[in-house]
Amino acid sequence: MYYVPKNERYSNMKYTRCGNSGLKLPVISLGLWQNYGGVNALETQREMLRRAFDLGITHFDLANNYGPPPGTAEENFGSLFKADFKPYRDELILSTKAGNLMWEGPYGDGGSKKHIITSLDQSLKRMGLDYVDIFYSHRCDPETPMEETMRALDLAVRQGKALYVGVSNYNAEQTKQAAGILKELGTPCLIHQPKYNMFDRWIENELQDVLKEEGMGSIVFSPLAKGLLTSRYLTGIPADSRAASASRALSVNAITDEVMSKIIRLNAIALERDQSLSQMVIAWVLREGKVTSALIGASKVSQIEDNVRALKNLDFSQEELLRIEEILSF
Ligand code: NDP
Repeated sequence: MYYVPKNERYSNMKYTRCGNSGLKLPVISLGLWQNYGGVNALETQREMLRRAFDLGITHFDLANNYGPPPGTAEENFGSLFKADFKPYRDELILSTKAGNLMWEGPYGDGGSKKHIITSLDQSLKRMGLDYVDIFYSHRCDPETPMEETMRALDLAVRQGKALYVGVSNYNAEQTKQAAGILKELGTPCLIHQPKYNMFDRWIENELQDVLKEEGMGSIVFSPLAKGLLTSRYLTGIPADSRAASASRALSVNAITDEVMSKIIRLNAIALERDQSLSQMVIAWVLREGKVTSALIGASKVSQIEDNVRALKNLDFSQEELLRIEEILSF
């Protein structure tokens, strides 16, 4: 049926400025890495995107290789964009990435200008877009001079194919170097997209310092540890879960007794806060205002609704934070 977004879509979401830029991002964004490929039902994808937008999620994150098979998330998004979101293009922040393996041969991945520019052209075609809002180098390619990759990002902006650029999975030193080159080229590095959650806190030391120094924002992926840090696995492994699926994105081997004992204890704190575990976990990645946006995934509309309700309580008492630290520390 014809889609009319809810009038009240901006009434509950919070929007935060991305680093020193003029761009604001929703504190919760939606990623299309899993559950949006050719193997997934298009109708469920449509329902999730519509509901997300109705809840004020203005940012959808993609990459050239999202699927499976690679490219199909952008193709599906393209057809849903055309059907539902085209009139709302100026209300959306759409991102894509290049750098991971996408096609055969020497130009199908990496950081070369050849890969970065041709991959972006392919992504725009698949999505039926004139431009993306944010274009990322998906990974630092040690075989390509950093300057070449950054010049390619800068070129994408100058060609009008991207409004802003970012880097993903770059370590602190690589990020500093990339930001320095982009600054000289006149295209500031808007944002970093690193993994960050209670079980993986690598960004907390050097990287977050670099982001502050460089005036960059951050959007953190897998804030729910791919579903582990939710109620999903509290009573076993559901047949429709990521861990049970053919995708290798979350291995059942990750669901150990040790991990589950932490999840059960974290869940108890969440319940005391009158929150679901995923809501508390999202609030935790956003604590202290160091992260611009939590980039969640979802396989159901109800998960998006549950996660957005995190906004009702983003605050932690000192005691809660200490109890969480204690659980995570062993
Ligand atoms: P999450 O850590 O948010 O995991 C999402 C999964 O958690 C869902 O698929 C679902 O699992 C489960 N889940 C979500 N909400 C709930 C809920 N309320 N209750 C119970 N379970 C819930 O993120 P992802 O790992 O999916 O990554 C998010 C996005 O980050 C990606 O789509 C992509 O855009 C980006 N990303 C970027 C990478 C990069 O290299 N730059 C790498 C990986 C991701 P289930 O499917 O089992 O229902």
